[in-house]
Amino acid sequence: MAIPVPGARRLLIAALLAPLLACAQTPLDQRIAEVREQSRFVPDKALAQLLKLQTEADGAPPATRAEIMSQISLAHMRLGENEAALAQADAVIAYGKAQHNDAIVANGLLSKAYVKFAQADVRQAHQLAFEAEATAARTDDLPLRVQATITAGQAYAERGDFPSALVKLQTAVDLARLITNQLPLATALNALTQLYNQMREYDKGFAVLDEQLRVTRALHSAGRMAVAKDTEYGLAIEAHQPERALHALQEALVLERQLGAHRMIANSLVNLSDNYLKQHDYARALRYGNESLQAAREAGSAPIEATARVNIGEAYLGMGRIADGKKSFEAGLAFYEKANSKPDLQSVLTEYGQALEKAGDLRGAVEAYHRERAISNELFEKQRQQAVLELQEKYEADKRQRQIELLSRENQVKGAELDNRRLQQRVWWLLALVFALAAAVVGLLYRKVRHANAQLEVKNLELKAQSALDPLTSLYNRRHFQDYMRGHAPAERREPPVRTSGGDDIVGALFLLDVDHFKHVNDTYGHAAGDTVLKMIAEHLRIALRETDMIVRWGGEEFLAFLPAIPRHGVDEVARRVLESISSQTVVYQNHRIQVNVSVGFAPFPLFPDERPLSWERAVNLVDMALYLAKAHGRNRAYGVRGFANFADTSMEAIEQDLERAWRAGFVDLSVVLGPAADSPPPAGSEPSNVVPLKQAAKNGH
Ligand code: GH3
Ligand code: MG
Ligand code: MG
Repeated sequence: MAIPVPGARRLLIAALLAPLLACAQTPLDQRIAEVREQSRFVPDKALAQLLKLQTEADGAPPATRAEIMSQISLAHMRLGENEAALAQADAVIAYGKAQHNDAIVANGLLSKAYVKFAQADVRQAHQLAFEAEATAARTDDLPLRVQATITAGQAYAERGDFPSALVKLQTAVDLARLITNQLPLATALNALTQLYNQMREYDKGFAVLDEQLRVTRALHSAGRMAVAKDTEYGLAIEAHQPERALHALQEALVLERQLGAHRMIANSLVNLSDNYLKQHDYARALRYGNESLQAAREAGSAPIEATARVNIGEAYLGMGRIADGKKSFEAGLAFYEKANSKPDLQSVLTEYGQALEKAGDLRGAVEAYHRERAISNELFEKQRQQAVLELQEKYEADKRQRQIELLSRENQVKGAELDNRRLQQRVWWLLALVFALAAAVVGLLYRKVRHANAQLEVKNLELKAQSALDPLTSLYNRRHFQDYMRGHAPAERREPPVRTSGGDDIVGALFLLDVDHFKHVNDTYGHAAGDTVLKMIAEHLRIALRETDMIVRWGGEEFLAFLPAIPRHGVDEVARRVLESISSQTVVYQNHRIQVNVSVGFAPFPLFPDERPLSWERAVNLVDMALYLAKAHGRNRAYGVRGFANFADTSMEAIEQDLERAWRAGFVDLSVVLGPAADSPPPAGSEPSNVVPLKQAAKNGH
């Protein structure tokens, strides 16, 4: 069995062959570069050096410190210390992120990719490789970009995506040509040769190999040339050029021995023994197998050791030493079983079965095939499950995406609905507010109107009252009295008189007053004094009469009183009371003492000269005539019409024309009431009271 150079361990090889990341600049960088080259071939020595350098690089720039860390990671990995390698790679990534340095991050990602590959975590290794390439592309660090592009190309190749791999590796070669240092170009060409080999494009592979060998020769590096020779061996073997292959391998071995690169030596020896196995030269195959086993032990490489054991086993079987062959084969198989590397195990079991078959151990061969079948089925099942899982995952992801879209669409609809509802609510609120405001305004206006109406009513009442009242005296005015009397016209016919308990009947009565010599008051004391006097008269009329009596300012200094209900015999007494109540008053006005008398005409109301009552107007007229008589007969007195006699012999018109004559003719019954200290007393022999029946007075020659 060969170590398949262009096969499963390509990334590992790439790491092994990784070009110098930076051109050496400082003495420290120089030393790092040397150690890096050393590490590719003798990692144990390199690791010790690197750890020493790390303590010295404390003050060095971040890129230098990161490079040391990366190299420590790779050295650990080459020594099979994958956990330590991984920790270092992660530390580099974290350091790069902290420094915001893409070059350092990419370097760390590459280291981690190689370690992941060494741990057989191919999927993650590839992801890291692509991430490293993308990160490196953001930098102007060409060697780093070449290395990252190579690694990405190899990852594509491992996935079977040769077109993408080819593009990447050609890009890497083109990039590397831009760099003066030829190391990166040698590495890129090496990767491209291996890719063509894998693609079975052997002619193209040999063409690229030619350039690779030319460039490598110019580098004068034994290690680099050993790598190139290994690649040449792989290509020649696959291209069925065993002699060229053997020659290349032997050259590689010489170089590796010069370097003391144990792992590479072991690797080449394994390949050498495999080469002789292919040529059925079992003796040589056994010899190199044993040598490779020894070298692998020295290099501490378990995988190479296992491959060496398988090759030794095959050589034994070829030589017919079935027991020895089986023993060695089983020892090699044990490693693959332990490593749980199914593809490797499968290919080894196939080789095992073929070798046993060829050696005549058919039972053993069948058994090996059965084991191979089981693993194959297991692998197939695993792949199938993986495929189903991936399909399912994709389906679930699609479903989730659809659900998310559905939900977001639903959310949009719901959001719109919610917005709508909110808008509606707002409109309702606004409407409610408008209604409330309108109601408030209407209420306010209504209250105002009501208030205004109430005020208007009051004003109207006031106006009405004012229109009924005399402003100076606050007595009723003449108009009011007229209105009142129109509404209370006396009955058309005489009604049976209402009588008092003393046999007297109740009548209404009209009194008309006129102030005596009032002009004199005005003239002497002024108009205002006259007004004061008028007010006094009004006041004392109120006192002298009842509340139910209607007192009216008839005009100027004339007053009228209408008493609605009074005993007939009390009418003269009222006249006397009126005269007295006014003449007994003294009005004090601006140190003047003013006294006035009044003259009064009066009569019961209604008056019945015949069966028909007198209208109120004619009654008032009659009373006025009586007043005139009172004035004429000396003032400060009251003349009252009591009634009529022999009315058939006269007429109302005749009486109204001359009351005095009617009285003297006996048609009218008058009573005379004198005011206090009246000048002109009635004729002697009259009644002792100051009430003198005028009829009698007339008889006495008045
Ligand atoms: P007689 O005794 O004949 O009634 O004499 P008299 O001075 O009262 O005469 P007459 O009735 O003709 O005069 C009334 C006067 O009363 C005339 C007018 O100037 C005055 N008078 C009328 N109204 C008012 C008033 O409201 N205030 C005042 N101060 N005087 C008035
Ligand atoms: Mg008058
Ligand atoms: Mg007068």
